[in-house]
Amino acid sequence: MKAFSYERASSVEAAAKAAAGTRGAKFIAGGTNLLDLMKLQIETPTHLIDVNDLALDKIEATPEGGLRIGALVRNTDLASDERVRRDYGLLSRALLAGASGQLRNKATTAGNLLQRTRCPYFYDTNQPCNKRQPDSGCAAIGGFSRQHAVIGVSDACIATHPSDMAIAMRALDATVETVRPDGTTRRIPIADFHRLPGDTPHVETVLEPGELITAATLPKPVGGKQIYRKVRDRASYAFALVSIGAIVQPDGTGRVAVGGIAHKPWRVEAAEADLPKGAKAVTEKLLAGAHPTEQNAFKVTLVERTLSAVLAEARG
Ligand SMILES: Cc1cc2nc3c(=O)[nH]c(=O)nc-3n(C[C@H](O)[C@H](O)[C@H](O)COP(=O)(O)OP(=O)(O)OC[C@H]3O[C@@H](n4cnc5c(N)ncnc54)[C@H](O)[C@@H]3O)c2cc1C
Ligand code: SF4
Repeated sequence: MKAFSYERASSVEAAAKAAAGTRGAKFIAGGTNLLDLMKLQIETPTHLIDVNDLALDKIEATPEGGLRIGALVRNTDLASDERVRRDYGLLSRALLAGASGQLRNKATTAGNLLQRTRCPYFYDTNQPCNKRQPDSGCAAIGGFSRQHAVIGVSDACIATHPSDMAIAMRALDATVETVRPDGTTRRIPIADFHRLPGDTPHVETVLEPGELITAATLPKPVGGKQIYRKVRDRASYAFALVSIGAIVQPDGTGRVAVGGIAHKPWRVEAAEADLPKGAKAVTEKLLAGAHPTEQNAFKVTLVERTLSAVLAEARG
């Protein structure tokens, strides 16, 4: 591990200021992703700003009838919150489909949104990887690509975003709240938060350097049957090959976000109009323009079949 300095921020303002003042600084929350990456020297921050003392660990009702989830709310606490279980069951189920109990006890809402890809070549510092080292190449293209993305890919990167929670948040139309290093705040719709790889796959979100996430806000509940189905190689403790987060209303309309297939949570609102027609019609629009490799072409069929199972479950 490379040497780094460390401080514990005592306020949001102090954290933002510290980030602005030190080149190469990074925030650390639960540390379940960042520390692993530091040990492998994939991430080499010069300075760590520990945000765990910030008062960002509350889940509060918003005046609009939704919920404001503090950036430091642990995945376990979020999944078990009575209001989340009752009104945003999709979010609770997606969280519980991720990682393990011990990891969820540490992992935070902000850290989960910002966790990095599980592409094996990203973790192997002997291999070229444009995400780890810009302009070095992509070992996954032409390599083992069974786990990789089938849509929104580029010639520079075909990695997927690994978060389960983010899929639910995309279907629930969450908004990410932040503070910039200069103290100004902004609200970013989750649809715009994660980026596709393009020719800069190392830039994964629209966050500016040093911008601190303070919360994720959910609009008022939309009801419906809320289902999260994750298909993976093992029954637990594995990332999704394909996952579907769906909200299905009694009249058959609804929303669908898909995980395991793109560099960001994948949702195509125009495809949702076809939900009453069934999984095939929706999948055709959801995956229009898909560009799978020979090894992961099965994901296209898997999306349709998983969605079909979700719709059958919703119909009871
Ligand atoms: C073995 C294993 C299995 C896993 N399985 C799954 C799984 O199946 N599904 C799944 O979804 N996840 C899984 N995870 C990932 C886990 O959910 C993430 O590691 C976790 O959510 C990250 O949260 P954290 O608070 O520990 O983040 P950290 O590791 O502390 O930080 C992650 C990133 O977020 C940044 N950051 C943290 N807080 C803030 C903030 N407030 N503002 C701005 N930047 C911030 C950090 O600088 C860092 O870049 C797994 C992890 C492990 C180790
Ligand atoms: S798919 Fe992306 S993360 Fe994986 S090796 Fe290629 S550039 Fe790196």
